[in-house]
Amino acid sequence: MGSSPEAVIIGAGFGGIGAAIALHRVGITDLAILEREDDLGGTWHVNRYPGLAVDIPSTTYSYSFEPNPNWTRLFAPGAELKRYADHVADKYSVRRFIRFGVAVQSAQWDEEQQRWRVTLDDGSTLTPRYLIAATGFLSQPHTPDIPGITEFAGTVVHTTAWDDDHDFTGKRVAIIGTGATAVQLIPELAKRAGRLTVFQRTPIWVVPKIDFPIPSPVRRLFGRVPAAQRAVRRVTDAIYEVIMIAGVLHFRQLNPLNRGVAQLGNAFRTVSVKDPKTRAALAPDYDFGCKRPTYSNEYYRSFNRPNVELQAGGIERITAEGIVTADGTAIDVDTLVLATGFDLWDANFPAIEIIGRDGRNLGKWWRDNRFQAYQGISMPMFPNLFNLAGPYSYSGLSYFTTIECEMIHLQRVLGEALRRDATVVEVTERANDAFLAAMTERLDDTVFNAGDCASSRSYYFNHAGEATLLRPTSTANAFRDAETFPLTDYDYA
Ligand code: NAP
Repeated sequence: MGSSPEAVIIGAGFGGIGAAIALHRVGITDLAILEREDDLGGTWHVNRYPGLAVDIPSTTYSYSFEPNPNWTRLFAPGAELKRYADHVADKYSVRRFIRFGVAVQSAQWDEEQQRWRVTLDDGSTLTPRYLIAATGFLSQPHTPDIPGITEFAGTVVHTTAWDDDHDFTGKRVAIIGTGATAVQLIPELAKRAGRLTVFQRTPIWVVPKIDFPIPSPVRRLFGRVPAAQRAVRRVTDAIYEVIMIAGVLHFRQLNPLNRGVAQLGNAFRTVSVKDPKTRAALAPDYDFGCKRPTYSNEYYRSFNRPNVELQAGGIERITAEGIVTADGTAIDVDTLVLATGFDLWDANFPAIEIIGRDGRNLGKWWRDNRFQAYQGISMPMFPNLFNLAGPYSYSGLSYFTTIECEMIHLQRVLGEALRRDATVVEVTERANDAFLAAMTERLDDTVFNAGDCASSRSYYFNHAGEATLLRPTSTANAFRDAETFPLTDYDYA
């Protein structure tokens, strides 16, 4: 066996950093955080394309226990999130545990040793007692297998591997994808490219972004009086929570609110896009909320520029010179930008091979038996494993809400294990079944089940057509559950 920290956390993004803080709080300090990248911050380290910013107000998109008075805008640029990750990792003494450039291949429960055997890419192993997978949802980039893509002779840039040195000035640029990433990137590319062709498969809902700089006197006030920032956070939390609860989670009962927001999106498109054909092609034909909606004041207006063209008829193939559309038009391209998102359901559930008790393979078990995880974090037959980006874990308000609920969960379960002198904890089948049944029932009221999502191609749905990514409850409910779930929902040995 290799060296054996008590706990291993996979991933040094905000989830992994939060998990490390939670372990500290219960006294587990013998830990290693394994990070495949060369720096911390997860998605905020990897993504650095022009235009990158949060799309949830920064007051809400941060740890509640570590408000950041330095956000320069309500929706902070991506680089500020990276700086915030560095700050938290340093302030909470997390950085010293991180081993950079270490990729995990697989993890297997060793029944005899009652520990996990974690195999790294170089073949070496670690054997921690506790394993926390903090690998995120959006961490495995998706490269589409469009015929001919490997034959393209120009430059290909995926948005998760941005080449800061690549000069777009005057180039013939094509971008594939119109998700949240593309909505931020397209206005920036439009300013630089000689010609920009946007290849859209599914239109996205876009609503105005109410964004503004936070004046320095206000930032100074936030620095001196954190309670003032907390008060603002309560407001931004409440606004987003209401949108989530009324617009998405209780669509069946409250769909007029959802329809109202959709009308706003329609009106916004109507006043923003001049060309009627382009405007019509940009109109989504599925309900608002089926897939992640976006906020931008510039995206729609970009299509009014003479150098920007929307192609919504489909791609037939890619050639050495460019892209051939379904109607046979050949478009020459110098630089091909792939804003094609992430591979969630094939590559990310789980992100590494995980084998539990009796050889149960987590990925196979999920696919054979429905995606499920008690409180979004633990599964029966996988002792001492906490998987942060699990089915039903993501509370739609902000990923930080998810992380903080999971921190409370970890602290309660591991604290109880320490009190009982137990070295193995495992969620019971009964608790897991009851949680899955409750989530399944709640899904029925959501836009995912009660709305029209057929044409949305949303990554919220798995291959079986179940929307098992988001936790279909309010944030208040998620926190209440984290704080009060019966500790007897776990077995301790
Ligand atoms: P995405 O939402 O999955 O969008 C990927 C885009 O690529 C979609 O338009 C998709 O079309 C298109 N695509 C994929 N394969 C294709 C193919 N073979 N042919 C044609 N088009 C193809 O990915 P994303 O834009 O990177 O965003 C992912 C998530 O990251 C967001 O939902 C959001 O949660 C997060 N994000 C957050 C921020 C932020 O500000 N906080 C910014 C960016 C992203 P279809 O829709 O037809 O599949």
